[in-house]
Amino acid sequence: MTKRMRVFATCDIGESISLLRDRGYDVEVYPGPEAPPKSLIVEKSRSGIDGLITTLRDAVDAELFDAGKGSLKVVAQYAVGFDNINRADANRYHIPFTNTADVLTEATAEFAFFMMGALARKLWSAEHLTRENKWGFWHPYLPFLGDEVTGKTVAIIGTGRIGLAMIKKCAGFDMNILCYDPAYQNHEYITAIQETNDLRHARGICREKTWIKYVTLEEALTGADFVSVHVPLLREEESLTPTYHLFNEETFRKMKPTAFLVNTSRGPVVDESALAKALREKRIAGAALDVYEREPLPADSPLRDPAIEDRCRLLPHFASAAKITRLSTDPDKGMAGRCVQGLIDVLEGNYGGDITKMPYVVNKEAFAK
Ligand code: NAD
Repeated sequence: MTKRMRVFATCDIGESISLLRDRGYDVEVYPGPEAPPKSLIVEKSRSGIDGLITTLRDAVDAELFDAGKGSLKVVAQYAVGFDNINRADANRYHIPFTNTADVLTEATAEFAFFMMGALARKLWSAEHLTRENKWGFWHPYLPFLGDEVTGKTVAIIGTGRIGLAMIKKCAGFDMNILCYDPAYQNHEYITAIQETNDLRHARGICREKTWIKYVTLEEALTGADFVSVHVPLLREEESLTPTYHLFNEETFRKMKPTAFLVNTSRGPVVDESALAKALREKRIAGAALDVYEREPLPADSPLRDPAIEDRCRLLPHFASAAKITRLSTDPDKGMAGRCVQGLIDVLEGNYGGDITKMPYVVNKEAFAK
């Protein structure tokens, strides 16, 4: 009889766990809603598991790979971002890791769009006014006005999967679009968006002509009414164009005082102290964040300063938090389905056992012949 595959999941990912069990896998799921301590994950790796299901909350590095030496064959990450996984260590120990790209692209982009709208139209302040019974009158401009997004200029920082999906949504709202990406530029997509914009204008669907173009970071920051960030977290040693603290005191100075920042990428891409200062000093008009330098957001975060509460929206790393996106067992629809399929591909030797052909494996470079 062939040995049963043993898998440890650092959190419950729903029905997909049952599908693994139905396949004969022996799956243990960490029962708490919080992340397990690292020592427990290391202990599980040492106990001889074949596969590990992780989330962005788990630090995956040499300590863990070393503990799993001889038995651990794959780490299946339940996220597209994998900055919690030390890629160099995974490669050194020759362990493939997978991610769940694509299935959360539209969900994350639409959430970024909604954050931008909520911020611009002051939905939070407006609802507070109503709930706190301070809505005393209808008035042309009192107690405050918001800004439309329609017809404004948005800068998309990072034009990968989610950046391009955000572009598509912004184009639908007749926005002009500045694109910045030092590593990957999809000119074909940008041309198609421009052609669609031109057709909408020619057919009278859209009153003003709108445009889209690739520009430098400086041009994107100085020209935009909204800046939406869609980059991976890359530290100094990981990239020629690192994104750690890409948004800092200097970059905030370049933005218009009327501009808004939206970040659904990773927290450390934004220097939070510099952002809180920029908001306090009204160097920029507002910010909406889904991700933070430390998660959950600490009680003493400068972002919680009541003085900036009206222009700083704080969401709990929620951009991919839609039911189908998170839980569908279909690998083409849900993170859970894709995560489990990535694990199965490696453990069951799909694609003739050639890891470089497995679509969800990230670190294919470690397996190239
Ligand atoms: P992607 O790899 O398809 O796109 C990222 C793009 O950023 C690439 O085109 C890359 O060239 C570009 N880039 C790299 N360095 C840059 C720099 N210095 N300046 C500008 N652009 C740069 O990834 P994706 O699927 O679009 O996801 C992007 C990130 O969004 C993920 O890495 C993840 O961290 C984050 N994310 C967050 C949530 C959430 O729930 N908030 C959900 C999904 C993804």
